[in-house]
Amino acid sequence: RIILGIESSCDDTAVALVRARPGEPVAEILASEVTSQDALHRIYGGVVPEIAARAHAERLDAVTSIALERAGLTLGDVDAIAVTAGPGLIGGVLAGVMFAKGLAAARGLPLWGVNHLAGHALTPRLTDPVAFPYLLLLVSGGHCQFLAVEGPETFRRLGGTIDDAAGEAFDKVAKLLALGQPGGPAVEAAASSGDPSRFAFPRPLLDREGCDLSFSGLKTAVRRARDKLIEAQGGLSRADISDICAGFQTAVAATLAEKSRRALAAFPKATFAVAGGVAANHTIRDALAAVATEAGATFLAPPLRLCTDNGAMIAFAAAERMARGEPDGFGLEARPRWPLDARAAPMLGAGR
Ligand code: ATP
Ligand code: FE
Repeated sequence: RIILGIESSCDDTAVALVRARPGEPVAEILASEVTSQDALHRIYGGVVPEIAARAHAERLDAVTSIALERAGLTLGDVDAIAVTAGPGLIGGVLAGVMFAKGLAAARGLPLWGVNHLAGHALTPRLTDPVAFPYLLLLVSGGHCQFLAVEGPETFRRLGGTIDDAAGEAFDKVAKLLALGQPGGPAVEAAASSGDPSRFAFPRPLLDREGCDLSFSGLKTAVRRARDKLIEAQGGLSRADISDICAGFQTAVAATLAEKSRRALAAFPKATFAVAGGVAANHTIRDALAAVATEAGATFLAPPLRLCTDNGAMIAFAAAERMARGEPDGFGLEARPRWPLDARAAPMLGAGR
């Protein structure tokens, strides 16, 4: 079946066409267009929700046309529409949901509302024949959690951040060092020429049992290191910035690796997958791969373009549900908050 997937929950307008067999892993991506809004938000130093919503509304039509053209298809070839229905910036989610309803109504197509986090969490099955259950580390801009992925709609939260998400920490560190947004790629680039041992940043919560995480103290340590250098030298050299980034990135990788080791201890010989924007980071991928190997688990990290937000994961997450569920139809509502594991989320900081 050919599914058109729409993603507009943050600052990327993304549309993809995916050919998938309902409920089966491994789908074919016929086209996946992602239009970044970075340039629109740059002067504000972060994503401005109103600007994002308007840009999504303006662009969805064109991005959809481009995706169809790249795939060599027309709307007449599409069998279903899938759209992110939350969680995320509500204006953008609404823009996507309304656009999707319009397409579905015009063409008489079934409409599926997808949880953005389920999109990230199911991405390992988009590219590889991974069976349920598997262990997932979801590390994105707004979320950082270990999940047992038991089915297309069944996620059990094993632990996660008690404050900032890892991607958020990358973005804040980039802001502290005036590296621009999104911070992850900028920090990774700066870190590549840095000395990771010059600054000994903390590895938060390693003394605490279980696989909860914390990143706000690490961010504060980075700010202190920066302020100390500025006070002593009047500014930061390129080498200082690189060394701070390398130290920070190493601390994040080491923390995620140690917590993954603990999660894997409860999930022996499992498939261990990582997903979300931060999974694009090479130092982190390498650290997690090493831990998985050590535990005798199979490690999976999606290709970089499927780690950050995209429409293909949304189309695929809908396909995963098609074997047993019914489409949402026109009653579909946009949800700003929508935890994957409703049981655990209210107690712990599950991100935005
Ligand atoms: P969520 O999925 O939690 O709602 P989001 O959709 O905004 O949040 P993603 O698009 O999945 O998040 O990921 C974006 C985040 O990933 C940003 O915080 C960004 O800085 C981070 N990121 C992207 N590339 C890298 C990288 N190479 N290294 C580290 N972090 C990265
Ligand atoms: Fe995301």
